[in-house]
Amino acid sequence: MTDQLALFGGPKAVQSAPGDLFKWPIITPEIEEAVLTVLRSGAMSGVDVTMQFEAEYAAWHGMSYALAHNTGTAALHAAMFGVGIGHGDEIICPSVTYWASCAQVYSLGGTVVFADIDPDTLCIDPDDIEHRITPRTKVLMAVHYTGYPADMDRIMAIADRHGLAVIEDVSHAHGGRYKGRLVGTIGHVSGASIMSGKSLAAGEGGMLLTNDRRIYERALVFGHYERANKITLDDLAAGAGLPWGGYKYRMHQLTSAMARVQLRNYPGQMEEIDGAMNCFWDMLAGMPGVRAHRPPADSGLTMGGWYAATGLYRPEELGGLSVRRFCQALAAEGVPCGPGCNKALHLHPLFNTVDVYGQGKPTRIANLPEGVDIRQPAGSLPVAEGIQERVFFAPWFKHCRTSAIEEYADAFRKVAEHYEELLPGDPGNATDGGEWGLSRRR
Ligand SMILES: *Cc1c(COP(=O)(O)O)cnc(C)c1O
Repeated sequence: MTDQLALFGGPKAVQSAPGDLFKWPIITPEIEEAVLTVLRSGAMSGVDVTMQFEAEYAAWHGMSYALAHNTGTAALHAAMFGVGIGHGDEIICPSVTYWASCAQVYSLGGTVVFADIDPDTLCIDPDDIEHRITPRTKVLMAVHYTGYPADMDRIMAIADRHGLAVIEDVSHAHGGRYKGRLVGTIGHVSGASIMSGKSLAAGEGGMLLTNDRRIYERALVFGHYERANKITLDDLAAGAGLPWGGYKYRMHQLTSAMARVQLRNYPGQMEEIDGAMNCFWDMLAGMPGVRAHRPPADSGLTMGGWYAATGLYRPEELGGLSVRRFCQALAAEGVPCGPGCNKALHLHPLFNTVDVYGQGKPTRIANLPEGVDIRQPAGSLPVAEGIQERVFFAPWFKHCRTSAIEEYADAFRKVAEHYEELLPGDPGNATDGGEWGLSRRR
């Protein structure tokens, strides 16, 4: 390819209009009808549609209990309460994730210890967990980051050895498989967001899944006061009727109605996305500077709906070209992409200095024994801190149209072939790269 880079006035590699190639979520007439039916019946605040959705979601996963929530944040909060996190307890969570994998723990009197991530999977590094376990540790949080299933065998083995609970955050990975099993079914409980940007998209909502009756009932008693009659365990039933957390967490039934249709559509959509993304990365196989963020083909791991599809960047193969400059050149070619991923949480003031509850101490350490400081300063999690320079958000194709996808792959090859021309004007990476949320990715 000898074309001039579009950044320097050449023709764009992507010539065809994207149309609905990236559009998400896909709103069908059936969804409109389902939502209108609930709206017209005035049943927005009931739980009948929601309970149908729960039964279908549980059946899809082969799990005993699904409990719908008004957000993924709420579902994960309830999961944390469900496994019994309380005052002074710690959860271990990867530093690179959305804040709702851990921040709710503060309101339970607990706190978070961050672990580093693996630079290739972008999930928690199983080698960086065990030395962080203290007598206060209760939970390991496994996040299947941008679709990549976390190393559940090793995480479960560590949890078993130390008597910990495992919560899976499935917000990026609905329908993904770990060695054949659906993610969200392996830990003691899982929580997932189904807000509109996620690959299973239903408005604002979240889902908790578990096979453990006690976790399920604790989640019920925490934020679902209207289902007090479902509580069977004596110690919980005695205090049911009002929400223990003081939270009202039930799902809006317009979400439940949309979600029921989305759940039926999802397997087909997932297959289409999986085909498109694998086709795209296969086209780029062997290209310098870039690696797919996906498990090996023979691993038994799959990416589900490829939420916020991410690419791994290897600047050393392109003369040190910054990922920011690389993405600038791609954007000029017509590719929706940009540098970075979620920022490392351990560096945010919320986890260092902020005193949320007025205890006269940073909340991160306020409920720990006197003199114990688990805060993690800059330099303590090197992979998480350096990752913004080594990842980018990739085109997230929703349809498997090979000739259109080929144009995007051409753009990547063109930019990589011309990388030397990009070096002189390279501004370098932003010092404060990454985002707290990934919702600008489409
Ligand atoms: C989106 C998301 C959540 C929270 O879900 P909401 O529905 O937005 O509250 C939790 N964890 C991760 C990893 C997420 O991406």
